Amino acid sequence: MIKKLKNIIRLLRSVDLEQLEKVAKKVDLAAVMQAVSKMDDAQLKGVMKMLTSTGKKRETPPVNADFYEVEAKLSPEDRALQLKVRDFLEREVKPIVNKYWLHDEFPFEIIPKLAGLNVCGYVYKGYGCAGGSSLMDGIIAAEFGRIDPSIATFLGVQSGLAMGSIYMCGSEEQKQEWLPKMQRLEKIGAFGLTEPEVGSATAGGLTTTCRKAENGWVLNGQKKWIGNSTFSDITIIWARDVDDGQVKGFIVRKENPGFMVEKIKGKMALRIVQNGLITLTDCVVPESDRMPLANSFKDTAKVLQMTRAGVAWMAVGCARGAYENALDYTLKRKQFGKPIASFQLIQNHLVEMLSNLTAMQTLVFRLSELQDEGKLKDEHASLAKVFCTLRTRDIVSRAREVMGGNGILLEYNVARFLADAEAIYSYEGTKEINSLIVGRSITGFSAFV
Ligand SMILES: Cc1cc2nc3c(=O)[nH]c(=O)nc-3n(C[C@H](O)[C@H](O)[C@H](O)COP(=O)(O)OP(=O)(O)OC[C@H]3O[C@@H](n4cnc5c(N)ncnc54)[C@H](O)[C@@H]3O)c2cc1C
Repeated sequence: MIKKLKNIIRLLRSVDLEQLEKVAKKVDLAAVMQAVSKMDDAQLKGVMKMLTSTGKKRETPPVNADFYEVEAKLSPEDRALQLKVRDFLEREVKPIVNKYWLHDEFPFEIIPKLAGLNVCGYVYKGYGCAGGSSLMDGIIAAEFGRIDPSIATFLGVQSGLAMGSIYMCGSEEQKQEWLPKMQRLEKIGAFGLTEPEVGSATAGGLTTTCRKAENGWVLNGQKKWIGNSTFSDITIIWARDVDDGQVKGFIVRKENPGFMVEKIKGKMALRIVQNGLITLTDCVVPESDRMPLANSFKDTAKVLQMTRAGVAWMAVGCARGAYENALDYTLKRKQFGKPIASFQLIQNHLVEMLSNLTAMQTLVFRLSELQDEGKLKDEHASLAKVFCTLRTRDIVSRAREVMGGNGILLEYNVARFLADAEAIYSYEGTKEINSLIVGRSITGFSAFV
């Protein structure tokens, strides 16, 4: 009886007095009190909930993946470009990628639209390129990764690996011939370094050969995993010179009779990216298509240093896309009558994801500042590549986890990130190889073999 009385007092306290007076003019309060006194605890609790409720739906905070406001450091122009890229990708790419991913096909209709965005070759000076900062190049890569790591990879190969090789190692004539057309995506490039039997060990172990001949150079060997190569106009081929043992770089055109590409089928990651197995059989390349500044693997490594930084940014985008989709899902999905975002164990996953994402974002920001200051070293790029791709694997796996069964359905926009993170983790140097680069730098001991 005392407990009931206490509850009635609590109930009355919770009611606004002015409102009570207004209500008393219209309602027989004595009868109400009598009815209330007959209620059990559960019924009383319900009435209290009704009386104290504001009637408004609970507002959840907006999904915000820039927790430390890193983007606030961008200039207004750069921020505007970032939002332009984001808007383009949301409108043009997001609606089509699941279908293409499922069918293991490339959306060729996107190429002219991408050209209109004018971000290809963003960092290079001249040749129709924007001459922008590495920081913005990274921001753009992350925006692409946030919507689709495959399209991000397509652009990374074109803009970074292929154009970067020509920009850093090509002659002035080669730059004039290829870079403006590649910037406009009228010509597509690929980058052939990895071989079927030589992946991590390319620095000292390339088996594809080049031999000087009267009519130019003769290339023989195979290249595996080469992104864009099934439809590219040119492929940068790295081969070992049989005479001096050094690695040299060539621009090989698709119409060359000694050049053959087979599509690699059955991938479970980055399915939109068209990877090829290239066979070079007495492939004759004129001297004018040999890149004069590609004379040892050190020159190849310069290109890789730049693109590895880009892969780290792309991983940030991939992780961000998964985190944003997962957080949004947990706010909407209800179990046990409540949004799953209100459960402690789900919040733990969300916070782990955000912690890693925030660490990655701040790390790549500084990485690009170093790059823009001309201070970037191989070990800086490798550390970022290792950390970001490793953490991304953790983030996408938690994103999938908090979504239960729907986490493995493409239409919920996390499954693709989960799969694609696996490829990003392995390409442009595995975790082990990039760790060995950092390890050599901090200890002075090379532990490669
Ligand atoms: C989707 C995709 C796209 C790609 N695109 C391109 C492209 O466009 N152009 C291109 O040239 N290449 C491309 N690659 C190739 C990619 O760079 C290689 O897959 C990568 O370098 C690893 O080589 P591998 O697969 O032969 O593995 P392996 O070298 O056989 O390595 C297997 C395992 O052994 C480990 N390992 C090797 N050596 C050591 C060591 N010394 N110490 C410790 N562990 C070691 C590796 O870390 C790895 O875990 C692509 C790959 C993928 C999956």
